[in-house]
Amino acid sequence: MPAIATLDRARLAALMEREQAAFVDGHPRSAALYERARRSLLGGVPMPWMVKWPGAFPPFVAVAEGAHFRCVDGHDYVDFCLGDTGAMAGHGAAPTVAAVESQLRRGITHMLPTEDAPWVGEELQRRFRLPYWQFAITATDANRFSIRLARMISGRPLVAVHDFNYHGTVDETFAWLADDGRVEARRGNIGPPVDPALTTRVVPFNDVPALEAALADGQVAALLIEPALTNVGIVLPQPGYHDAVREITRRTGTLLIIDETHTICAGPGGATAAWSLHPDILVIGKTIGGGIPAAAYGMSESVAAAIDAGMSVEDADVGGIGGTLAGYALSLAAIRATLDEVLTDSAFDRMIPLAERWAAGVQETIVGRKLPWHVTRLGARAEYHFMPAPPSTGREQWEHADFELERFLHLYALNRGVLMTPFHNMALMSPATTESDVDRHSEVFGRAVDELQG
Ligand code: PMP
Repeated sequence: MPAIATLDRARLAALMEREQAAFVDGHPRSAALYERARRSLLGGVPMPWMVKWPGAFPPFVAVAEGAHFRCVDGHDYVDFCLGDTGAMAGHGAAPTVAAVESQLRRGITHMLPTEDAPWVGEELQRRFRLPYWQFAITATDANRFSIRLARMISGRPLVAVHDFNYHGTVDETFAWLADDGRVEARRGNIGPPVDPALTTRVVPFNDVPALEAALADGQVAALLIEPALTNVGIVLPQPGYHDAVREITRRTGTLLIIDETHTICAGPGGATAAWSLHPDILVIGKTIGGGIPAAAYGMSESVAAAIDAGMSVEDADVGGIGGTLAGYALSLAAIRATLDEVLTDSAFDRMIPLAERWAAGVQETIVGRKLPWHVTRLGARAEYHFMPAPPSTGREQWEHADFELERFLHLYALNRGVLMTPFHNMALMSPATTESDVDRHSEVFGRAVDELQG
């Protein structure tokens, strides 16, 4: 189905050209920095994903504060990307900055615990209802460590994931289902060390029989999932799906790892607390440090006991779990301040209604302009899809993506002071986001659609 019944590709291309020219005209300083960066950085950017911004080059940031940033050309933007969740707490939240400044003067890293360590452990216990915690620098690392631990505990070789998952740069997860149902390396997988078909089983989201079949032979150490997909577009679980996931994983002796790195948007304890889920291991990265690199993974009593039994003190530093900077003092200070004073229960009480308002603003345009589109929401995060009903699998969402249209909508918004995440059409609220920030998006989205419809 076309994204807009009357979508005229030539018109879209012409509008895109106009928007690109306006972007280039309005950003001479970013343009100059980009030209300079192209001589020393691959693709002119510090990290490959940054080539995905919809403009001819990314806006270079001068200063970011709260839910806004200003580019080097002096334009102000409402930031709904928030560092793809890394800055969900808002840019430079005062309590986090104060704690980090204080800790900077008291030692950044010493491979020894500080007083913040047990405070953070207790707070993670309270939020996510798992008794024991460890730290990593990134969510990717926390996922990799969790998978290793699951293999050690179970003695099983394989991992299962959802089709169209994303859990960081974890080799085993870069697999998808080919048209004939076989597992293969997903498109874009760069230099897989081992064919993921040998390490991984892939099941469509919301597909209970497929999950049953994937785990039945007892070869899968762990099922690693987001409780709702957020990285192909938001795909919500159908009623009963999580009950089935827990029942099948328990029955087949498969450890359930829930990655809450993005779904923390569902509430202060993520979807795990909001929907009363019971993972064996839970991973949370990105946002908990308020932007300072930090991630954590929690585990049940029985997982903790099995790790204890399987790991010797003598070999604790060579087992492939941990990292010199993991749990470093600066990150624990940042997590403590962020969880205690920024991403609090009451902050979610403000953020979630803002996402409802954002979704309602988009919905008004969808209904008013009779678009065959849909908007979904997960707590403080919302997303519009180019399909009339919510997707039930990652593939369904992916097949309705429209890269050209997305880029136009995002560039149109960028040129009018609104930054969207450069992957699909997702917006995230921070404690610093305001109703007028949200309304700016609603207005700009409506105008973009009007121009497209002509
Ligand atoms: N898990 C999920 C669900 C994610 O969305 C991401 C990043 N998009 C990661 C893990 C990896 O985070 P990082 O790149 O910080 O390691």
